[in-house]
Amino acid sequence: MPHVSPRPLAELTTLRTGGAPTALIEARTRDELIDALTDAWDAYEPWLVLGGGSNLFVADEPFDGTVIRVLTEGIEHVPATRPGFARLRVAAGHSWDDFVEACVQEGLAGVAAMSGIPGTVGAAPVQNVGAYGQEIVQTLAEVELLDERAHTPVAVPASELGLGFRTSVLKQHYGSVPVRSAVILSVTFELPIVGTGPVPVHGEQLRRALGLDEGAEVSLAEIRERVLGIRAGKGMLLDDADPDTYSAGSFFQNAIVSASFARTLPDACPRWPVHPDIDPMTVIPLARFDGRVPPPRTTESDVKVSAAWLIEHAGLRKGFALPRSRASLSTKHALALTNRGRATAAELAELARFVQGRVQSEFGLILQPEPVLVGVEL
Ligand SMILES: Cc1cc2nc3c(=O)[nH]c(=O)nc-3n(C[C@H](O)[C@H](O)[C@H](O)COP(=O)(O)OP(=O)(O)OC[C@H]3O[C@@H](n4cnc5c(N)ncnc54)[C@H](O)[C@@H]3O)c2cc1C
Repeated sequence: MPHVSPRPLAELTTLRTGGAPTALIEARTRDELIDALTDAWDAYEPWLVLGGGSNLFVADEPFDGTVIRVLTEGIEHVPATRPGFARLRVAAGHSWDDFVEACVQEGLAGVAAMSGIPGTVGAAPVQNVGAYGQEIVQTLAEVELLDERAHTPVAVPASELGLGFRTSVLKQHYGSVPVRSAVILSVTFELPIVGTGPVPVHGEQLRRALGLDEGAEVSLAEIRERVLGIRAGKGMLLDDADPDTYSAGSFFQNAIVSASFARTLPDACPRWPVHPDIDPMTVIPLARFDGRVPPPRTTESDVKVSAAWLIEHAGLRKGFALPRSRASLSTKHALALTNRGRATAAELAELARFVQGRVQSEFGLILQPEPVLVGVEL
């Protein structure tokens, strides 16, 4: 088993916090990964799967268990199920951005707008990563999962992963356990083959971010380059020289609230409708059926509101820090909590709670953290 000397998780996470685990395993092959997981599960010891550590907020105390670092790599072409598409199976530990770059070079669409998201391919479905209107759910075909209960790898279609806004059945949300305790061994995508020349840019959000008119055509390489530029300007591209990137990306999720609650917020707060919940099927027991089919039930659409706007309008400017704290909001993006150098998890948690408290007292809603919290309470 590829055990290595345990290192503090502060060295392996982008928020740069976390004590050392009891054991650290670096799994470089699929078999090593399966063996490490099976051993940890058989021993009934606490375990944590670690990819790039870019969506984790880990406590300062030592982690009393085994951390399994997924370092498997490789992209494999497999037969596509539709003409005009390429099907790629990617090892869980493969760098997400290297995968995106490879797709762009091969002229495969569907992921270029997600250029620059840190971390691994295997962690990407866990919170259905997305940027500029593109989400992994749009191109994900299936994942190969090892379930904690079954211990046998199975192919699971994307439709069974409960992929939603920064969520899936695999994600451990704050205060909860995942619906399905399992680890992704590989991820299979089906991507449209569009070539390397100019193509129409789908999605209004992406066109707006890139400053393009409807009908404009640019190559995937240009989309990638421009997205990387925008992300760098917001501190959303990992850069050792830029402490604004010592973060877990967006620390708080945009809040999804009812339409009636959204009406209580200032008009200036950016908001987007969440698809209305249309009752897909009405079942009327035969004994009660009187020959009339009722109109489909519709509910008022929920609304997603900008967490960054709420934070800034609760009086917390970019760069805000509590007195004597080494944690601060990013100087480029109010939604990112950053470690300005050797900040402890306790300092970052104090800032997170302060932000939550200010937004709650100003606007009456509690922002929920996006990263997975390990041993941290907010
Ligand atoms: C600067 C910055 C910008 C970011 N921008 C974005 C963005 O635009 N959009 C976005 O969606 N996210 C963004 N993120 C968040 C993060 O990059 C993504 O969530 C990413 O997918 C996490 O990958 P990781 O390998 O680092 O996961 P980790 O942080 O290592 O793990 C995250 C969670 O997934 C679990 N996990 C890891 N690997 C596996 C696996 N193989 N099987 C099952 N579970 C696994 C871990 O146990 C943990 O619970 C950003 C983060 C940073 C630091």
